[in-house]
Amino acid sequence: MSIQIRKDLCTGCGACVSACPGSLFNLKDNKVVLRHPEDCWGCTACLKACAFGAIYTFLGADIGGKGTELSISREGTKLHWTFVKPNGGKHSITVDARNANRY
Ligand code: SF4
Ligand code: SF4
Repeated sequence: MSIQIRKDLCTGCGACVSACPGSLFNLKDNKVVLRHPEDCWGCTACLKACAFGAIYTFLGADIGGKGTELSISREGTKLHWTFVKPNGGKHSITVDARNANRY
């Protein structure tokens, strides 16, 4: 997993800084910076925490993603997981965060 930040969308709110269990983010000049990308284990907490769509990731070949881009947006308790393939194909999955630990 390769975390990417869209600096033009980042408001510097700090939500991802608080959410990352590895404390891998810093704020600099009101924009977030991923300090140690090599230490990221792909938990997706930062994608779920960002309300501005400023964080996305590439899914590598190791998990069958082959460069597919993943972003997550929140609507109330619903999380929309959106996958955009390199050829532009789009697929979306919606889950209710209240059921996250149900199965
Ligand atoms: S949560 Fe999103 S908008 Fe807020 S600091 Fe992180 S990347 Fe920027
Ligand atoms: S995916 Fe998880 S470990 Fe990686 S930067 Fe985001 S919150 Fe931190």
